[in-house]
Amino acid sequence: MKAQSFVRHLKTRGDNDIRDITDEVLNCVAEAGVRTGTATVFVPGSTAGLTTIEYEPGVVSDLAQCFDRLVPRDGRFAHEEAWHDGNGHSHVRAALLGPSLVLPIGEGKALLGTWQQIVLVDFDNRPRDRSYSVTVMGE
Ligand code: ZN
Repeated sequence: MKAQSFVRHLKTRGDNDIRDITDEVLNCVAEAGVRTGTATVFVPGSTAGLTTIEYEPGVVSDLAQCFDRLVPRDGRFAHEEAWHDGNGHSHVRAALLGPSLVLPIGEGKALLGTWQQIVLVDFDNRPRDRSYSVTVMGE
């Protein structure tokens, strides 16, 4: 079995910044040279998350608005009373989305749908330098 880990970086704007990282992840899968296996994508930090969407402006806007409705930023957050950093909503949104994704790999390719892109969502209330890892395992 082969295992290889990659780390990639990007600068985000924060505030529901939804970024398509599909090409970078697929490049890692190709570079690892695994025919059958999995790729685990993980973002460290407690104010960002990962999912897949159809990456087009309508869905990008719908997803951002969904988080605004689910966890309004002007809600009351106990986190604010302790830390006063203005991002109580960011932590809760990130927890709901989750920090990782597992992609199956078959015949050397990640088995994504045609209209399914991998997105990193930054919920923090300020721009961030983010990194994420892609760990490819298989044979
Ligand atoms: Zn915080």
